[in-house]
Amino acid sequence: MKDFLAAIESQATPQDFESIEIPDSYRAIVVRESDVAMFDSMASNAKDPRKSLHLQEVATPELAPDEAYIGVMASAINFNTVWTSIFEPLPTFGFLKRLGKESKWGARHDLDYHIVGSDASGVVLRVGSAVRNWKPGDRVVIHCNYVDDQDPSSHDDSMLATNQRIWGFESNFGGLAEMALVKANQLMPKPEHLTWEEAACNALCNSTSYRMLVSHNGAAMKQGDIVLIWGATGGLGGYAVQYVLNGGGIPVGVVSSHDKAKLLNALGCEYVIDRNEAQYKFWKDENTQDESEWRRLGKDIRSLVGEDPDIVFEHPGRQTMGASVFAAKRGGTVITCAATSGYMIEYDNRHLWMKLKSIKSSHFANYKEAWEANRLIGRGAIQPILSAVFPLEKTGEAAYQVHHNLHEGKIGVLCLAPREGLGILDTNLRNKIGEDKITTFRRQ
Ligand code: NAP
Repeated sequence: MKDFLAAIESQATPQDFESIEIPDSYRAIVVRESDVAMFDSMASNAKDPRKSLHLQEVATPELAPDEAYIGVMASAINFNTVWTSIFEPLPTFGFLKRLGKESKWGARHDLDYHIVGSDASGVVLRVGSAVRNWKPGDRVVIHCNYVDDQDPSSHDDSMLATNQRIWGFESNFGGLAEMALVKANQLMPKPEHLTWEEAACNALCNSTSYRMLVSHNGAAMKQGDIVLIWGATGGLGGYAVQYVLNGGGIPVGVVSSHDKAKLLNALGCEYVIDRNEAQYKFWKDENTQDESEWRRLGKDIRSLVGEDPDIVFEHPGRQTMGASVFAAKRGGTVITCAATSGYMIEYDNRHLWMKLKSIKSSHFANYKEAWEANRLIGRGAIQPILSAVFPLEKTGEAAYQVHHNLHEGKIGVLCLAPREGLGILDTNLRNKIGEDKITTFRRQ
C-alpha cells in the first residue's frame, strides 16, 4: 500500500494509479466467526470490543464490474461496529451468509471473518468495467447504502429495496481497513476543506439525520418546529441539532453531563436538558413505566420553550420511547431510527391516538439523500462533529468508548493516513467557515 499512499499524497494522475499493482492482501479490522460465543451469558456492557476486534491481514477480494477499490485514508466508529463487536442483537455472519447465497459476487462476502466499518474517506484505486462516473485518483467519501441497482424494488426509494444492506455491517469489506470494496453508487466527492478524518466521520450519521429531519421520507421539519433531540451531542444528535438550526427550527437537546450541555450551547443550541441532573426515571422497574416522570419531562420542555415538541428525534428506544410519545405535541411526530437501550418498545397508545400523533420509522438514507447531506458538508453548512482520533491498531479502544458512552460526536480512525491534519485542498473555504467552527467537538 506504500506506493498507493505516495500516489495519494502527491495527487498522482489516474494513469499513475493504474500503474500500481493492487496488493494481494491488506490490513483490516475484523471480527472472527470463531469468536461469536466469546461473550455468551455476559451482560451487554461487560462485552468488550477490545477483545473481539482484531487487526489482521486479509485477502483482497476480486473486483466486480460495478465496484471500486478504495485506498482508505480514514474511517470512523459507528454504533453498528459496536453491535457487530459484541455480537448483538445477532452475530453479523448470518447477514454475510445470506448475501453469499445471492450471486457469484455476493459469495465473496461469506467468509469466516467480517471486515467492519461503515464510513470512509479515501481515494479510488481501481474501478470495475461498468463504472462510468469515477476514476482512479478521485478523492471520495463513502456512504453505506448497499443496494443492487438491477433490482426493480430499489428504484423508487432505494431504502425500500428488498435486498437493501448497510455496507460494513451487513456486507463484508468495510471501511475500517487500508482498503475497501464498494459499489460505485456509494461514492461521493470528498469535501475538500476537511482533513481525511474530518471527512470520514460524517456520511453515516449525517445522512441518517438528514433523512429523519429534512427529507420528505422523514419528519420533513419546517421553520419554527420545536424538535426534542435525545443524545444531542452523540453521532446522530450532533448533526440533528445542526439541521434543526439550519432549517429555522428550535432544538431542545437532551444530554447527560454538564460538559455536553456546554458543547450543545457552543453548537448554537440554546435549550438544553441535562438528563443526569434531572434524574428522570421513566421505568419504575423492568416492566412498569412511570407516567408522572413522562409528565415531568413534558413540563421541563414547556418551561424551556413554552410549547410541546412538534418532532421528537428518537433512537434510545425502550428507555425513552414511552416518554417521547407522551411529550410530542398533539399531531406531532416521533421519528425513530434505532433502539440502543432495547427494541421491545412500550408506550401508552391512548396518548398516540387521542392526540393524533404519529410514529415514523427511518433508516439510513438513499443515494440522493446521502448526496444532499454530503453537499451540505461540502458547502460548509453542516460541520463535522469529530471529537477524537485513534490509529487503526486502537480501533477496539475507540469502539469501547462509544459502547460506554465515553465520547461526544464521532470518533475517527486513521487507516492509511500517516497522521492527523492531512488532506485539506480548499483552504479558502476552511478559512471562510473558520477553524473554530469546524473543530467545535475537537476542542471540548
Ligand atoms: P452515540 O454516538 O452513542 O450517541 C447516542 C447518544 O444517545 C448517547 O451519547 C447518549 O447521549 C444518548 N443515549 C444513549 N442511551 C440513552 C438512554 N437510555 N436514554 C437517553 N439517551 C440515551 O450513537 P449514535 O451514532 O447517535 O447512534 C444512536 C443509535 O442509533 C445507535 O443504536 C445506532 O446503532 C443507531 N443508528 C441507526 C441508524 C440507522 O440508519 N437506522 C444510523 C445511525 C445510528 P447522552 O448520554 O448525552 O444523553
